[in-house]
Amino acid sequence: MNYLYVALGLFLIAIVLLWRASQTQKTSGLPGGRVIYTDTRAWGEKVEKPLYDGNLGLTGKPDYIVEKNGRYIPVEVKSGRAPQAPYDAHIFQLAAYCLLVEKNLGSRPPYGIIHYEDRDFAIDYTNELENAILDILAEIRRDERRADVQRSHEVTARCTRCGFRNVCEQKL
Ligand code: SF4
Repeated sequence: MNYLYVALGLFLIAIVLLWRASQTQKTSGLPGGRVIYTDTRAWGEKVEKPLYDGNLGLTGKPDYIVEKNGRYIPVEVKSGRAPQAPYDAHIFQLAAYCLLVEKNLGSRPPYGIIHYEDRDFAIDYTNELENAILDILAEIRRDERRADVQRSHEVTARCTRCGFRNVCEQKL
């Protein structure tokens, strides 16, 4: 049963992260990312075990962690064609992976990669991006102590596919 609560907690954190990211889409000033060429054959095996940091209360699993010049680069694979620039939600997700890579592997990634079907973007892991993801995590922790946190989105499609519909009182 505990596993269920942990899974539910992590899922809700992911939902809140995505919502917070979408809320800041117009104003965050996040770097849009550099289009790069990557040789996917060099990525090796997919990451199997999630990375975890107890102090941040954060866990996550990038699709790949590529070693390049002694540095570890997290890679997030997205299905579908690339947008003009990566969505903020994707950038924040990658930033969380950069944070976890640094905490778990002891080396700060200079950037991470978002891989779409037709294009790859390198996202610089700047101090500003790190501070932005830390702010979001702090806000989530504040909300966890509140009893009246409301549903964080108005996306019917997300609710329709949600595995928690049977227990969620705010489903659409
Ligand atoms: S059912 Fe909808 S509102 Fe509830 S957790 Fe799932 S996605 Fe969110």
